[in-house]
Amino acid sequence: MKGYFDHNATTPLHPAAHDAWLRASEKHWHNPSSLYRDAGLASQQLESARERLGTLIGAEAERIVFTSGATESNNALFASLPADALVVISAIEHPSVREAARSRNVVELPVNAAGVVAVGELQKVIDSKRTALVSVMAANNESGAMQPWSEMAAICREHGVLFHTDAAQWIGKLDAANLGDCDFITGSAHKFGGSKGCGFLVLPSEDSRLGFIRGGPQEHGRRAGTENYPAIEAMVTVLESITPHLTEIERMQSALRDAFIAEMRAHFDPLRVISELAPRLWNTVLMVMPEHDNLKWLTRLSRRGFSISTGSACSSGKEGSSVVVTALGASVAELKRVVRISSGWETTAADWQALATAFVEVYEELNRGGRPQ
Ligand code: PMP
Repeated sequence: MKGYFDHNATTPLHPAAHDAWLRASEKHWHNPSSLYRDAGLASQQLESARERLGTLIGAEAERIVFTSGATESNNALFASLPADALVVISAIEHPSVREAARSRNVVELPVNAAGVVAVGELQKVIDSKRTALVSVMAANNESGAMQPWSEMAAICREHGVLFHTDAAQWIGKLDAANLGDCDFITGSAHKFGGSKGCGFLVLPSEDSRLGFIRGGPQEHGRRAGTENYPAIEAMVTVLESITPHLTEIERMQSALRDAFIAEMRAHFDPLRVISELAPRLWNTVLMVMPEHDNLKWLTRLSRRGFSISTGSACSSGKEGSSVVVTALGASVAELKRVVRISSGWETTAADWQALATAFVEVYEELNRGGRPQ
């Protein structure tokens, strides 16, 4: 995994998740909704996983609905709002929030020069009588900039307005114990060592309804379809095993990331690091390279064994499509030079150094106009 610097797109399956998945699949593969003893045991395990997840994210288990991932969670949430609902979202939300919100009346909060939604912007537009929901992500998937979700949740509470945070990039990187203060929380297992196609949506209360996927009584009638218990068990197990180490990981990994930025600056001028002045995830660097299109960087680094991204994976293939850099008002030329690096829990100083060295080699190759190696 040495050259893998695209953890914000997805992460490799963690050994703890792998083992938990296998154990659950071998022992508790029965349908939790069936009525015999073995099915009852599977159902008990599922409910125990819900309790354990609730403890990790500070939310009562009854509020948690397991889903197929963050995209489904975000769509399910917006689909549950009345058609004429007024919703407030930020300008840097993931497309699964932006596009799902589009079917409602949307007010968009701008970001400041650091790529952060200022709390004052929410104060300006929130309207106790009209606003149905405010949705601001916990940490941005492209820049890693942390958003003031906790303060915003408090403002919403004062106004009696519901608050949602898409925490797909926060969970597994930073402590999640206070996320339960938000009315709605989105999470996705494959962003933190779990398997793809598994995630959750936290609702305000046990009584909250959700009818996005119908046709069965599962998840207390809120999300139909046989529960993917092995993937859920894997997701919860990996989060339990990593959570006690997150403070130390943040301390060590942000120092490695900053050393990488310093090393890059020694070779590239100007090098613009987006949201550099904002509190950021310890693993993310979104940069505008001084020269050459991002796809040229990406393909040449890939040939050397390094995986990076040009923005969010969901919009890759569309060159120059960074939502964040667009929201910051960058030129088209700058947008084409955006690259995103995102490391993992176990990325080492040597891995970062090798990446910086590869950037320098690619730069020399591009400037020679030579053919890629
Ligand atoms: N929200 C955010 C902030 C994300 O980073 C992603 C993944 N790029 C998603 C939602 C979608 O997640 P999933 O793959 O679980 O549908």
